[in-house]
Amino acid sequence: MTPAFLRSDRCDDAADLDVLVVGGGISGLASAWWLQREGLSVALWESEARPGGKIRTDLVGGYLTEQAAAVLMNFRPEVTQLVAETGLDAHKAPRDAAVKHRYLVDRQRLVPVPMAMGGLLGSSLWSARGRLRLLLEPFVGCGGHDAETVSEFVTRRFGRELLEKAMEPFVSGPLASDPDRASARATLPRLTALERRYGSVALGVLLHKLAGRRTACPTESFSFAGGMTTLVRALASVTGVGFRAGLRTVGLEPHTSGWRATGTGAGGERSILARQVVLSVPAPAAASLLAPLDGTIAELLKGIAYAPISVVHLGFARAAISHALDGAGFLAPRRERLPLNGNLWTSSMFGGRAPAGHALLTSYLGGARQPHALDWSDERAISTVLATLEPLLGIGGAPAMARVDRHGEALPLYYGDHLGRLAAIDARLERLPGLHLAANYRDGVSVCDRIAGGRATARRVAAVLAHRPRAAVDVPNCLVLAEA
Ligand SMILES: Cc1cc2nc3c(=O)[nH]c(=O)nc-3n(C[C@H](O)[C@H](O)[C@H](O)COP(=O)(O)OP(=O)(O)OC[C@H]3O[C@@H](n4cnc5c(N)ncnc54)[C@H](O)[C@@H]3O)c2cc1C
Repeated sequence: MTPAFLRSDRCDDAADLDVLVVGGGISGLASAWWLQREGLSVALWESEARPGGKIRTDLVGGYLTEQAAAVLMNFRPEVTQLVAETGLDAHKAPRDAAVKHRYLVDRQRLVPVPMAMGGLLGSSLWSARGRLRLLLEPFVGCGGHDAETVSEFVTRRFGRELLEKAMEPFVSGPLASDPDRASARATLPRLTALERRYGSVALGVLLHKLAGRRTACPTESFSFAGGMTTLVRALASVTGVGFRAGLRTVGLEPHTSGWRATGTGAGGERSILARQVVLSVPAPAAASLLAPLDGTIAELLKGIAYAPISVVHLGFARAAISHALDGAGFLAPRRERLPLNGNLWTSSMFGGRAPAGHALLTSYLGGARQPHALDWSDERAISTVLATLEPLLGIGGAPAMARVDRHGEALPLYYGDHLGRLAAIDARLERLPGLHLAANYRDGVSVCDRIAGGRATARRVAAVLAHRPRAAVDVPNCLVLAEA
């Protein structure tokens, strides 16, 4: 049956809308939230039947599984504000206080590494030589160049051991990227900025800490009761945002009062006039929409590569695992040659993720390191993960639940001169006034970065509109209508 919000005629017929946001993943939802907070009238068109894009929580046999983001690592005041003002504070699921470290695989065994950066030095991971090299970081002169890769930057500042044992697995795991090809400035903007500002990353972190300012270290990690879907559903239900699911934007044309967007969905074709448009869709989708308007931007967007990821969820009776599971999970450096990039101990991190007496382990396969893993059958993906986890975690029984989720274009890769590419796109965008790009191929892929990025976008849009007269427009929220 067609959901009520698809049948409603009321949602997007209002003329003279301030902003149309295209794409209802966290980038678009966060942009829309900040835009309505600026007092602007906002509609959001999402092609799928539900909000959230990659973010999706499923209840599978009593286990709460996440298809993409599972943890919100917050080090930005924008996140704190959005969570508080949307009333989500009451629904936060904080990371279990007992989880104080994560593990890294080193010579086929798990070595604990504290979550806090300060504790990294004390880890048993480092050789005497490697530890000395870490300590010397403040004395390393500034250097680097615009196209410096993550591997070059980290080796130059901290030495090869930190790259291979800690930074490479971080870039290959959560970012699904390749440190030998990823741009240091685009991938590690906070660390490279600390070097530019203070001449040393370690010194910069210390000075920020002493001044009580935010650094690259998360101040809190959390999810929500009901999983990350709680966040995206809350943002899609905000009354100041006219959220419409099941409507794919297929055309954008300049118009005297801004832009005319055309969308298609189950209810047929629709069009809407908006003063400004924010495109919060992945780069290939943005390229298709922009190709008729500016072929150069479309080509630049098409040049952004994406990594595939398979997410393998395994549920076990807790008694079948001998490891204490007393951490966030583990990351696997490339040199360990394991077939998975990382494993999140989801039920150790947050309560309510597995039935009583059971554990949920979430593994990530693929990424830039082994993109072909996406093509593996469910059976092969599950048996490969099991064979890897058994010796590391002392697993002695078959899983009670197994499920595989796949993303062909999971995460954008900030390869080469990524910032130069974005600057070239922005320069061309000036020829298309009123069009903005806000998605995870710029300014970070994490949910934290996407929420902060949404605010920056909203401020840019509001600044432009402040110079132009506006008509007040009431754009009812279709998700709210659907649920009424
Ligand atoms: C496996 C995995 C694990 C992750 N884990 C974490 C984590 O633990 N913590 C964290 O912070 N981050 C994590 N991330 C990153 C984070 O989840 C993503 O970067 C983020 O969700 C991407 O959001 P987005 O809105 O930019 O893109 P998307 O989620 O891709 O949203 C884009 C939306 O645009 C819509 N769309 C496309 N074309 C059109 C069109 N023409 N018209 C209308 N709509 C359109 C799509 O349907 C989609 O809903 C993870 C990512 C993955 C893949």
